Amino acid sequence: MQPAKTTLARFSPIEKSLRTVRAANLWDYEAMCRHFSWDQLRADLFDRSDDKMNIAMVAIDGHAKLTPNKPAVRFVDAEFTRTELTYGELLRSANRFANLLRLVAIEPGAVVASLLGRCPELYSTVLGTLKCGAIFAPLFAAFGPEPIRSRLELAGARVLVTTQHLYERKVAPIRSTLPTLRHIFIVREVAEGELPHGTQDLTQAMSGLSETFETVPLSADTPALLHFTSGTTGKPKGVVHVHDAIVAHHASARLALDLHPQDVFWCTADPGWVTGISYGVLAPLSCGVTLLVDREELDVERWYRLLAENEVNVWYTAPTAIRMLMKAGLEPVKRHTYPALRLIASVGEPLNPEAVMWGMGAFGMPVHDTWWQTETGAIMIANFLSQTVWPGAMGRPMPGVHAEIGRRRDDGTVEILAPNEVGEIVLRPGWPSMFSGYLNNEQRYQESFTNGWYFSGDQAYRDEHGYFWFIGRTDDVIKSSGHLISPFEVECALNLHPAVMQSAVIGLPDPVAGQVVQAIVELRPDYAGDDELRRSIMAHARRSLGAAIAPRGIDFVVSLPRTRSGKIMRRLLRVRALGLPEGDLSTLEPSA
Ligand code: ATP
Ligand code: MG
Repeated sequence: MQPAKTTLARFSPIEKSLRTVRAANLWDYEAMCRHFSWDQLRADLFDRSDDKMNIAMVAIDGHAKLTPNKPAVRFVDAEFTRTELTYGELLRSANRFANLLRLVAIEPGAVVASLLGRCPELYSTVLGTLKCGAIFAPLFAAFGPEPIRSRLELAGARVLVTTQHLYERKVAPIRSTLPTLRHIFIVREVAEGELPHGTQDLTQAMSGLSETFETVPLSADTPALLHFTSGTTGKPKGVVHVHDAIVAHHASARLALDLHPQDVFWCTADPGWVTGISYGVLAPLSCGVTLLVDREELDVERWYRLLAENEVNVWYTAPTAIRMLMKAGLEPVKRHTYPALRLIASVGEPLNPEAVMWGMGAFGMPVHDTWWQTETGAIMIANFLSQTVWPGAMGRPMPGVHAEIGRRRDDGTVEILAPNEVGEIVLRPGWPSMFSGYLNNEQRYQESFTNGWYFSGDQAYRDEHGYFWFIGRTDDVIKSSGHLISPFEVECALNLHPAVMQSAVIGLPDPVAGQVVQAIVELRPDYAGDDELRRSIMAHARRSLGAAIAPRGIDFVVSLPRTRSGKIMRRLLRVRALGLPEGDLSTLEPSA
């Protein structure tokens, strides 16, 4: 089916200067795709005769040996005070944590979970866990007790590292229901006082343990990481990744995020999600950069100051954050200059063309969209620094990644679609960070593959230049009177109306059209949601999209339901509109 759309491609392509092209790690896309080899990169990274590996060898061991005094992580607190951990220090604390796990008899393959914010202990926990062959599973610190309980139970976690405060509020009430959780290590917020019964002070437990630890060499397919999905389309899934994933983390950090060893890199994602671990810890450390870690939450003025004062070179953030910054206008961004900044990239949700162009006005460079999922473990599609950006497009596949637009046929085969045809983004298995399973759900894992292709669940089309354009999740795409309607496109158009802050578009059943488009709109503060405004937004949508695609109805809400990682939950809007059960809401942002 052809996309009933054209309005997304409303800006001219942004070409890159010759200087940018020449300095980038990837400067000739086609040549890089032709010559790229995962086997070659794996051999370069591990250089071992026994084919064994461990993520930690690349993320910490090698750099700690070569550049022990180089800052690996720079923490900035509320007062903008900096504390740095060098590669050498990080290695020593990771080693001590690995020795602690050994001491308490944690076997390779056991799950070590973290419930932490962006504190120094997080980094030694991740790396120490991997070093001794256990599986690391991050949990999001803002979850309540029940989502924490269900994930720890599903994971069968043996160890939990958390803070005193988080333990008391969230883990103590559920502790007795988790018999397999043997050890709880506490990062103290205050030095004094008794810790709760059945927990141990992490610093005390590690004190006196050796600062050396021989990283355990493992086969490439050994499980390493367990991440839970965002729960946007239903109950969150536990996704398992193996040690080989670091090969894809490293390649994408070099090619898609253009990381060079001298860079300061800032990934704003929370360490409770896959982006916060893949690109907030492992991939950048594997490139030997200095990570900037902000211990505070999003604040417009603070963020610009952090970017400027820390001379951030590469910044990886998300559309929700960019939209917040856009709302504040250009004045705060212009209070600083950013001569070090080279690349701004985004992931997590569709990036509207205006957000890409905002980068041009604010920083003199576009925002580079990237696409991937918890299941893919690493960036699969990207706008590369040296390559032309079409605002609104997600970019092109990473070298080494074979992505197509596909459709399942009734006979179980897969049809690969021609340019401009809408279908599902499908990937040919073989990239190193492909998930190795859904935890306790082998059937669902098997169902994600058809005839040698992984089906991502995201609809898109590819244009004649090879760029992928997002349409919507398969569950969210709307079919109305024979038209295939992209919720992303309709939302982009609605958001251009001066009264609209954010919008979400869903398909509701209709006996004649099959589905009709319904918009749910969050208004800007000064507007009242009355019939006149409804008519005005409708008229605007009809003008820009045409009557066939424009919404039939508009509802106003105070705030759209979002996941805690910032994704609009269209599923929830649909079931609410139809009066159906709401299902798993464990990742719903509380304000919704
Ligand atoms: P769940 O699978 O539990 O419903 P989720 O799919 O939101 O949650 P994640 O793995 O965190 O969980 O998110 C991946 C999804 O986010 C992608 O499948 C896609 O729908 C969306 N996404 C990520 N990056 C982009 C992008 N650049 N453009 C459009 N959508 C994106
Ligand atoms: Mg998903």
